[in-house]
Amino acid sequence: MAVYDFAVIGAGIAGASVAYELQASGRTVLLEREPLPGYHTTGRSAAFLVESYGSQAARLLTRAGRGFLEEPPDGFAEHPLVDPKPVLWIARPDQCESLEAALQTALQMGADVRRIGVPAALELCPALRSDYLADALVEPGARSIDVAGLLECFLRGFRGRGGDVVTKSPVTRIERTGEGWRVDAGRESYRVGVVVNAAGAWCDPVADMAGARPLGIQPMRRTAITFDPPPAQDISRWPCVIDADEDFYFKPEGGQVLASPCDETPFEPCDVTPDDYEVALAADRVERATTISVKHIRRRWAGLRSFAPDRSPVIGMDPRLDGFFWLAGQGGFGIMTSPGASRSAASLIVDGRLPADVEALGLAAAHLSPARFGTGSAR
Ligand SMILES: Cc1cc2nc3c(=O)[nH]c(=O)nc-3n(C[C@H](O)[C@H](O)[C@H](O)COP(=O)(O)OP(=O)(O)OC[C@H]3O[C@@H](n4cnc5c(N)ncnc54)[C@H](O)[C@@H]3O)c2cc1C
Repeated sequence: MAVYDFAVIGAGIAGASVAYELQASGRTVLLEREPLPGYHTTGRSAAFLVESYGSQAARLLTRAGRGFLEEPPDGFAEHPLVDPKPVLWIARPDQCESLEAALQTALQMGADVRRIGVPAALELCPALRSDYLADALVEPGARSIDVAGLLECFLRGFRGRGGDVVTKSPVTRIERTGEGWRVDAGRESYRVGVVVNAAGAWCDPVADMAGARPLGIQPMRRTAITFDPPPAQDISRWPCVIDADEDFYFKPEGGQVLASPCDETPFEPCDVTPDDYEVALAADRVERATTISVKHIRRRWAGLRSFAPDRSPVIGMDPRLDGFFWLAGQGGFGIMTSPGASRSAASLIVDGRLPADVEALGLAAAHLSPARFGTGSAR
C-alpha cells in the first residue's frame, strides 16, 4: 500500500492548488477520477477575478490570493496568469436599488468600485443601449484569469515539488485505520494521514463515503455560450459587463463574445450539458441590453457551481472526524479564490490556523469551518 501524508480527492482548481501547497509540508497524492485534471467545473469557467463578488469570506480570499496571481512565485508561471479586464455592473431603472446596495457592500469591504453613470459606461462598452441603462459601477482593477494556465502551473509546481498526480482513479472507499485513513482509488490503495475533500460537485458523496455527515453542498448548473462579435468592432477592450441582479453577463473572449444567463438550476453531481432554453435566454438578455444581434452561437457548455447552504466557501477539518478536511462550496468564485483558499487550507491542516495575512484581512477559521453548519459530524 502506498503511504502519503495527504491524499487530495479531485484535481480541479481546488484540489490542484491545495496539493501544491501541501506538498511543501508532506508527501501528497492527488487523486482524480477523470483522465484529465480540470475536466469538470474548472474547465468550464468564465475566468474573471472581481473583488466585488460572492460572500464576504469569498471576497477576502480573493483579495488574499490576488498578489499570487499578479506576481506568482519565481518559476511558477512562464506567462502572466491575469490580464486587466475591468468589470462593469449595469442597472436598468428598476435595478438602481440593487446597484446601490452592491456599491455599499463593496465599499464597506474596501473594494475599489466606483459609480460612473451612463455616459462613461457607454464609452467603455459602446454596444450597450443608452435607453436600457440607468446607472453603472466599475471595478477598474478586475482581472481576467488564464484558468487553464493557472491549473497547469499548480499541477506542474506540485509535480516539481515531488507530488504525485494519479488520474483515472475514482475514489471508491475511504476508511478509518487507527490514526489515519485507507483510501481506495482505481486499482490502488493508499494509507494517508489526512484526506482532503476537494471533489467539487461530489463533495457530499465523498464525505458520505468517509462516514462524515454531508453538509448540503448543492451543485447548480450554469450555462455559457460564445458568439461572433458585431462586425468591424474591436471588442478586445470591452469590460466584463454584469447585470446588477446577476441575471446575465457578457465579456470578450478570444475574439468572440462569451455570455451567460446566470442560471442556477439545482442538479445531482454529473457531467452536465447545456440546456437549449438557457442558451436562448443568454442570447436574448444580451440582445435586450445591447445593439448586438446574436446570429450564430459558436460554442455552448455548462458547468456545476457548488454552493454550501450559506453560499460561502467551506474550508476546515470536519469537527468530529479528525483528519477529514473539507475544501468545498467554491460556487462561482473557485478560480479567483484558489490561491488564497489553498494557502489557507494548507495552513489550517499543517499549523491549525489561518496564515497571518489572511487573519489580518479579518477572516477567522470559524468563518470557513464546516462546524458553522453544526452538522459536520461523523455518523
Ligand atoms: C459557467 C461558469 C463560469 C464560472 N466563472 C467563474 C469565474 O469567472 N471566476 C471564478 O473564480 N469561478 C468561476 N466559476 C466557478 C469555478 O469554475 C468553480 O468554483 C471551480 O472550478 C470549482 O473547482 P473545484 O476544483 O472545486 O471543482 P471541479 O473543477 O469540478 O473539480 C472537482 C474534481 O473532483 C473530481 N472527483 C469527484 N469525485 C471524485 C472521486 N470520487 N474520486 C476522484 N475524483 C473525484 C472530479 O472528477 C473533478 O475533476 C464558474 C463556473 C462556471 C460553470
